[in-house]
Amino acid sequence: MPRPLTLPNQSKLLICICIILQIWELYVIKNRPHGTWWLLLIAFFAGGLLTDLISGIFHFTFDYVWPPNTPIMGPIAVEFHEHHLTPTLDPSALTANLTKGVYGAIPLTVITLCVAGMTPDTAAWFAVIATLGFTNLWMLGFHQIHAYAHMGSELSADEFNRAVREISRLPEKEQRKEFARLFQALGIPPWVRLLQRSRLFLRPDVHWQHHITFESDFSSVNGWSDPMMNWLYRLLIKRMTAKPVSAAAGRSLAGETREGELRVEERQP
Ligand SMILES: [Zn+2]
Ligand SMILES: [Zn+2]
Repeated sequence: MPRPLTLPNQSKLLICICIILQIWELYVIKNRPHGTWWLLLIAFFAGGLLTDLISGIFHFTFDYVWPPNTPIMGPIAVEFHEHHLTPTLDPSALTANLTKGVYGAIPLTVITLCVAGMTPDTAAWFAVIATLGFTNLWMLGFHQIHAYAHMGSELSADEFNRAVREISRLPEKEQRKEFARLFQALGIPPWVRLLQRSRLFLRPDVHWQHHITFESDFSSVNGWSDPMMNWLYRLLIKRMTAKPVSAAAGRSLAGETREGELRVEERQP
């Protein structure tokens, strides 16, 4: 069977194009009338929520919808499944991480520039365009933020794996508390930890809830949309006659079937 069409894993050229488009977009937003700091602040949080929701919806489809032979989407879905089996991501791989972001950010930035060119100069349209502008910025960084949630550990890989396996067997309510305690021990840079604690970046203890069963917390940006996505997921699952394939894989990953199935490579922060 021929290999499905895939996107390049990393491209400095695409990152440069994306940054140039975003600078152009910033210039357009700055020169629109009716801009205020309040509207910009609201747009920052609205853009963060929108990007988080988009990341959650796409993540859900990669986990449960796209067959591997679908052009573009299939290989990304395979990558997501591999990430479940080997939950490592490297924050120092900035080019590869940002390249994943540009695939969403470039088309959205072009759409934003078109919307800006076709709409009247009102406060409401300023808010819409600024929200789209911040969405594009969050989008560019989404996979880097996801990588920070998998940040290297001061614990050995064996120790970390054992701890995750043990926590995954606890009742759901206790898991989040124990994950928070585990991630206190990891070597995450202070500025990243501050952003994670303030919930501007995805918290590792929240994201690991997804890596236990793949049935909740699909967000890859900041987790603000998780309650909405979790509710949607439960609604969807109730209406499905069969459990999705990935959910079954998730249970084995949680260590309920075989010891040592969860693999985390040791890496430095
Ligand atoms: Zn992950
Ligand atoms: Zn997933």
